[in-house]
Amino acid sequence: MNTGSIVDKALDDGVLTSDELAALFEVSLFSDESGRILAAGRRKAIEATEGKAEVHAQVGLNVAKCPRNCKFCSFAACNDVFEQESELTVEEAVVRARNAEAAGANAIYLMVTAQYPFGKFLEVASEVRAALKPATPMLANVGDFTLEEGEQLREAGFAGVYHALRLGEGRDTGISPKARLETLNNAHEAGLTLGTCLEPVGPEHTIGELVEKTLVTRDARPAYSGSARRIPIPGTEMAELGIVSKARMAHIVAVVRLALPRSTPGNCTHEPDVYGAAAGASLLWAEAGANPRDTDAQTEGKHGMTTDVCRALLEEAGWDVLDGPSRWHGAR
Ligand code: SF4
Repeated sequence: MNTGSIVDKALDDGVLTSDELAALFEVSLFSDESGRILAAGRRKAIEATEGKAEVHAQVGLNVAKCPRNCKFCSFAACNDVFEQESELTVEEAVVRARNAEAAGANAIYLMVTAQYPFGKFLEVASEVRAALKPATPMLANVGDFTLEEGEQLREAGFAGVYHALRLGEGRDTGISPKARLETLNNAHEAGLTLGTCLEPVGPEHTIGELVEKTLVTRDARPAYSGSARRIPIPGTEMAELGIVSKARMAHIVAVVRLALPRSTPGNCTHEPDVYGAAAGASLLWAEAGANPRDTDAQTEGKHGMTTDVCRALLEEAGWDVLDGPSRWHGAR
């Protein structure tokens, strides 16, 4: 298959087939074809965002042993990483959210483990919402939810959610793919904007799996897609499978950007990385509080990066970073 013509089709916003996507993923790193894909991913990312990258900041509200047992997550009960459960107080959550906003984060996310009480989450969120500038979008990163719960998220002031059908869902996680897909639909039905991505990519994932999940992100009609690699949690079964190189991730990030239409403006990568940003990631994530890839309950200064660092990484990759509220999620 001629990858040059596939890239041209993607730049014309043509809908790539599974075979065409597979051909782009299969290209050898550091080849001429790969260079063309990286350049095209970046070009499409710049065109889709009018040249403005964003930094979104996530505050993890709790550490708990989560019964959903996603093997790649430090909160999974099966991984037994954290000896003690803990939660941020409302005041601590508000301080972290406001600090990120003051540092220039374009949107604020609140994340909890799957069994965190939904009503309590709404209460904390309402306090955070009231403390943020009205125009700053607030988004939720929570477990699967019903349409009614999605509507409650809207009423609590959330503009949108992050949600994904992840690689290995139902095999490496205790959650059925059907439940994840229903939540994606519920988000749309409830009027929440959606962020998603191809994650968490590991060395063992086949081209077929990458293609399948990339197409799920496209079908979800998100505000942004993108791709993130799996970070090994020391001592866990999945850590033995290793980690995808940053060079490979940059290629994957570019291919995902090419696979999504320009009507999806954003393309994220995680953890924040200049290679991915150079290859077409227009969104990086700052983190505070708990983090499912960290073994420390406060990720600041460990795996979690600050808004300042994320902005600097994007600038290192040649991006202008948006000042003010995200343009991809309307505030509530
Ligand atoms: S990824 Fe979410 S649902 Fe899965 S174990 Fe971690 S906190 Fe639970």
